[in-house]
Amino acid sequence: MNEHPRHLLATPVQYVKGVGPVLAGILAKMGILTVGDLFHIVPQRYLDRRQVLPIATLAPGPDRTVIGNVVASGISFLGRRRKRIYEIILEDESSARVSAKWFHFHEKYLKEKFALGTKVVLSGEVTAFGNAYHYIHPETDVLTAEKGLADIAGKILPVYPLTEGLYQKTLRKIVRNAWDTYHQSIEPVFPEAMIEEHQLADPWQCLQELHFPSPDVGIELLSGGRTIAHRTLIFEEFFFLELGMALRRQSVVEAVGIASPRNDQIHELLLKALPFTLTPAQGRVIAEIRADLERPRPMNRLLQGDVGSGKTVVALAGALQVIANGHQVAIMAPTEILAEQHFSTLTAFLAPLGIPHGLLTSSVKGVEREEIMRRLSTGELPLIVGTHALIQEGVTFAKLGLIVVDEQHRFGVLQRAALKEKGKHCDLLIMTATPIPRTLALTLYGDLDVSVLDELPPGRKPIITKLYAEHLREKLYTGIRHELERGRQIYVVYPLIEESEKVDLKNATDMAEELKKVFEPDYRLELLHGRMKGDSKERVMADFKAGKIHVLVATSVVEVGVDVPNASVMVIEHAERFGLSQLHQLRGRVGRSEHQSYCILMADYRQSDDAKRRLEIMVQTTDGFKIAEEDLAIRGPGEFIGTRQSGIPPFRIGNLARDVAILSKAREAAFRLIERDPRLKAPEHAKIRQELITRWSGRLNLAQVS
Ligand code: ADP
Ligand code: MG
Repeated sequence: MNEHPRHLLATPVQYVKGVGPVLAGILAKMGILTVGDLFHIVPQRYLDRRQVLPIATLAPGPDRTVIGNVVASGISFLGRRRKRIYEIILEDESSARVSAKWFHFHEKYLKEKFALGTKVVLSGEVTAFGNAYHYIHPETDVLTAEKGLADIAGKILPVYPLTEGLYQKTLRKIVRNAWDTYHQSIEPVFPEAMIEEHQLADPWQCLQELHFPSPDVGIELLSGGRTIAHRTLIFEEFFFLELGMALRRQSVVEAVGIASPRNDQIHELLLKALPFTLTPAQGRVIAEIRADLERPRPMNRLLQGDVGSGKTVVALAGALQVIANGHQVAIMAPTEILAEQHFSTLTAFLAPLGIPHGLLTSSVKGVEREEIMRRLSTGELPLIVGTHALIQEGVTFAKLGLIVVDEQHRFGVLQRAALKEKGKHCDLLIMTATPIPRTLALTLYGDLDVSVLDELPPGRKPIITKLYAEHLREKLYTGIRHELERGRQIYVVYPLIEESEKVDLKNATDMAEELKKVFEPDYRLELLHGRMKGDSKERVMADFKAGKIHVLVATSVVEVGVDVPNASVMVIEHAERFGLSQLHQLRGRVGRSEHQSYCILMADYRQSDDAKRRLEIMVQTTDGFKIAEEDLAIRGPGEFIGTRQSGIPPFRIGNLARDVAILSKAREAAFRLIERDPRLKAPEHAKIRQELITRWSGRLNLAQVS
């Protein structure tokens, strides 16, 4: 049996005693296919059954266990509504009584189980009910001749996550059965030196502790995921994630790229052409990028900078160094509006430098399009800005040297990969204004270098954010008029949710009509939405930018990147319908100059708790990093990054919000290992290699090690 012990952990769960085809099907839905998977289910918390309390001493609180005889058992009616429930009453040697109630029940089953005189153990939370106490849906065990008290009480029990049709007791039992048969197959993965350095517990002990904790472990440590066993398992999980990252990174380091030596002359020209001086943060990040470009390996850099921190010019400085060395640069933006804006910004900054540049979106058609494609393929056109049109088939570059992806959170992983395909050895600069909490950056972009723009251009005043309800609409209009009179411009944004696109569009249109009545003819107001044709969108945007339109009523097409410094008010209608990072992005459209700016969140009276919290956070802070942390806390890592898209394996036990310290240690250990043994060839790393391939199966190009 012990010939291929690890192999046995891959045994399908069906073969575990007590698991039939139906149960195997239910487990499969939870992703539990093998014995190994079963061993790695992580209890959400633990039930403390070490102490049996006399009923007379019972007080409200969690994890209370009592034993008694059933003295009453049957249907009863609860409260003024006379809700039909099942109730039993237990009495113990102290002659005190306590009741247990079920709102969902199978009458016949409970009647048989809790016949009068039966000895029963109850566990769970005790709550006060009038001046008596009761349990609601407690865990119950009936004591029999075969199953004595010793089998039930005196233990700490795992409370596993469940799914429809799977009961806590069943799962406990099959984990036990699997353990009895297969636990000898669990083997250490890490070599001695690592175990010692990171003080890792033996994996067999870890899993034993996880599922069958000894009664003398602290219950808080257990439930909080803080035991040595937890720490070891979390370390292991993060280690293998980071090992995958380290390998990806290694393949980049080893790849041959393009070296673009510094060109100070062109850099000086750019600085002269700019209407402002760079912030120290911009200077620092530009230096990082220029140094990267100089090296003969592909750059892989993430630039994080809050909205309005001035990322565009940073990208441009990098682009010029590449162009000066005879290569092409492609800047990819997520929307047409943004691509057009970048194009006109570049046109303004580049005029004195005389560098040809083009725009390619799906609205660029016919001869114009063909001409641009031709000049890209011959290399005549050194700089192109565009949308995903850039990655369409038929677009070829003569010598692409740098790809800049703006507002990367709006692009899927696949789109990014497709662009990268266009230039195998290209340098890559990814920009995002959704600041990612450090923990998440380390996991998601563990294979990238990160630069941070942590400073806004000087003279910006913090945006004043107010939460308004409908009855303050008049006040809102007065405020808007006041700003218009001072020469400022206004955004009014409507949510656009895809399923009801038509209805929402009508809302935005109606809103535009209503606002026209209020502000025209003194001021000009226009509507902008995603369904407009490219050139009319462009016209509206250009007019707004030029100050010819005073109030822009828009759907969330203005969400990312749009830059009109004279705008000072952002009104967000139905703010409760937007996510935090979207709200932050929208607010970032104002506060882009020395003018005091305002963000007014118009919200419905009725809001979900999450919506309430989002709006509160928006009022409290303008710090993008804080907002991202909160967003992570509200939505959880999976939703926050879109786990399916991110391509990283889901976590079983590690918690990004809680286990930052372990993550950094695991990352360091993984990167060090790959530095020493880039192919994991050493015999003492064979098991690590094996485990890595299992965990990352399909998600990582592991050509180097497999
Ligand atoms: P984001 O990081 O949101 O993409 P942008 O690159 O659009 O920011 O820049 C925001 C605004 O700030 C633009 O109008 C830009 O011209 C301006 N800007 C950028 N850098 C500076 C600076 N150092 N000083 C003053 N204004 C700047
Ligand atoms: Mg931008």
